[in-house]
Amino acid sequence: MTKYDLHSHSTYSDGLLTPDAVVRRAALRGVDVFALTDHDDTGGLVEAQAAAQDTGITFVPGAELSVSWESHTVHVIALRIDAANATLDAGLASIRSGRDARARRIAAGLAEAGIPDAYEGARKYVTSDRLISRTHFARYLVQAGHAKDTKDVFKRFLTPGKPGYVKHVWATLTEAVGWIHAAGGYAVIAHPGRYKVSPTGMRRLLGEFRDAGGDGIEVLSPSHTPAQYAEYATLARVYGLAASCGSDYHGPGEGWMDLGDLPEMPAGVTPIWSRW
Ligand code: AMP
Ligand code: MN
Ligand code: MN
Ligand code: MN
Repeated sequence: MTKYDLHSHSTYSDGLLTPDAVVRRAALRGVDVFALTDHDDTGGLVEAQAAAQDTGITFVPGAELSVSWESHTVHVIALRIDAANATLDAGLASIRSGRDARARRIAAGLAEAGIPDAYEGARKYVTSDRLISRTHFARYLVQAGHAKDTKDVFKRFLTPGKPGYVKHVWATLTEAVGWIHAAGGYAVIAHPGRYKVSPTGMRRLLGEFRDAGGDGIEVLSPSHTPAQYAEYATLARVYGLAASCGSDYHGPGEGWMDLGDLPEMPAGVTPIWSRW
């Protein structure tokens, strides 16, 4: 059976491994079809593609776009994009452009809570000068002894209502889907189970996403319980969306799942790759 892993990160965003190392690890772990989906950036795709050619793995160029929907941040996975597309490239640059100012506001909030110099601290963990994320703050805060692990940092400092959380406006759902389609790609709602929305809110999100031309939802994700695999498989069918799967791998010792460790897709859904 072909093993798919269509969600992962490298040093071009908040992953710990270079694109080359992520692809080689995926190949060693038996992944047949693999997507690199760095946050708001496609800079790692050329290196990943070269490693894929070397190892014989089938490579899917991707990205994970940050979107503001209602009061929530929602992630949209782009798959099979032409990274050279100017519309997508400009869109991603516009999403990234607010990140540095946001990081300074995060640091100001942390300073008020008694943690000074967090911007400089987080910068030490940044691996691409184009992108600073909450993950870099989390790694710094753990190292500086303010929390026991990154999960703990997010819970105590970096989520809504906490001192290092700031409101930020990302792309709209319509913009994200439009840019992805302009680049010939497929748009997939990432880890829907992570959003703190009511059941009716989820239906509104999926309805608006489908109406904007969205293609799929991530059914299999380490953010989901087995009950949610079934729930999102059903919603995929109801909304006429295809199903995707990905480990959301960020590096050794990070997160909940290693590359390729995904269960089988639930029966009755249309896998996103069958639309390719
Ligand atoms: P940002 O795009 O800067 O808001 O950072 C979002 C990233 O933070 C996500 O892609 C995850 O890698 C990480 N993240 C978010 N929530 C958590 C959490 N509860 N525990 C660990 N990492 C998280
Ligand atoms: Mn991340
Ligand atoms: Mn995400
Ligand atoms: Mn991700």
